[in-house]
Amino acid sequence: MKIHEYQAKAILREYGVPLLDGKVAFSVDEAVEIAKEIGGDDVKVVVKAQIHAGGRGKGGGVKLATGVDDVRAKADAILGMQLVTHQTGPEGQLVKRLFVESACDIAKEFYLGMVLDRETSRVTIMASTEGGMDIEEVAEKSPEKILKVQVHPTLGLQGYQIRELIFGLGIPKAASKDAARIIKGCYNVYMEKDCSLMEINPLVLTSDDKMLALDAKINFDSNAEFRHKDWAELRDLDEEEASEVEASKFDLNYIKLDGNIGCLVNGAGLAMSTMDIIKYHGGEPANFLDVGGGASEEAVTEGFKLILSEPKVKGIFVNIFGGIMKCDIIANAVIAAAKQIDLSVPLVVRLEGTNVEQGREILANSGLNLITGGDMNDAARKICEAVKGA
Ligand code: ADP
Ligand code: MG
Repeated sequence: MKIHEYQAKAILREYGVPLLDGKVAFSVDEAVEIAKEIGGDDVKVVVKAQIHAGGRGKGGGVKLATGVDDVRAKADAILGMQLVTHQTGPEGQLVKRLFVESACDIAKEFYLGMVLDRETSRVTIMASTEGGMDIEEVAEKSPEKILKVQVHPTLGLQGYQIRELIFGLGIPKAASKDAARIIKGCYNVYMEKDCSLMEINPLVLTSDDKMLALDAKINFDSNAEFRHKDWAELRDLDEEEASEVEASKFDLNYIKLDGNIGCLVNGAGLAMSTMDIIKYHGGEPANFLDVGGGASEEAVTEGFKLILSEPKVKGIFVNIFGGIMKCDIIANAVIAAAKQIDLSVPLVVRLEGTNVEQGREILANSGLNLITGGDMNDAARKICEAVKGA
């Protein structure tokens, strides 16, 4: 789960991470008021678009403003814009919130990041002197410029590891205490708030030797949602894929993808291999959809509706393994769902498992215009051909 920069900064502040003054604004007037609060009429602030994607600066979503009139002009330009960054896709994201933050004089920009390294099963802290820019590019072109520290899960972050990072980055002595507070604070947030990603890019050294977290990106690990009731308030549904929000209401695991073959599958593992086999046959999946082990008629109907709400979908592949659920019940659910919604694209159904013969017979006698697949390979080939022919 992603949150906005201003929300991430509020959490970091609680953990003693040094930050500039700033507040969220939902209108231009609010932005102006906040700027006045920060520094009166000759204030110098940065007006920052709040969207869940990075790269806002390059896209024109972060602007320096001097004086109240300039704040009004910049806020007016950014609020309501369709901000395009390398993370939003070509259609961009509508800006509905601004963060107005006092501006600082930057001497140097660094990068600080934290993720769980799945190979070593340890939280890995990454730091680099190449801050402010695309860290993926640094990792690719000059990986030696990224320092890494692995934190032992029971020992926790050690003083020597923090010093290793600070010396490695060449941070001046006068700023090393600030830097230590930031690294320690971010690590504590990462652990206590169950984060899956923490990025301070840039972490800056100011011209008067202070260290500050100038940008903040925090992703929470959704698996830990049950123990963080406060996350619900931090969620911004405008930033999430509408179809995925809809799916979550019905407990469907749905992820929208770029292709044109809709997939309706029970079980996450089968859903993964379904996407693989579609690709193998030259097709492109339009989504990942796991309707769950139960696959009730309601879940199947909602699944169909979600898939068909995407205009790019040119065919549907239903791939169900009847384990706990019996195939005849699933066949009836598919038929009932297909009758409820106006099915306008080719549908391939592959059933396997308990009562598969009855299930296939029910489908064959349904009068529905569907293609029955034999095994998974055969069915995947059929849907790819049907979509290509359409
Ligand atoms: P993004 O990563 O989405 O582009 P950032 O918050 O990193 O957004 O802002 C982009 C750049 O704008 C930063 O690298 C920094 O140079 C500058 N910047 C951001 N906030 C401030 C600030 N409060 N004062 C001065 N410069 C800032
Ligand atoms: Mg940034």
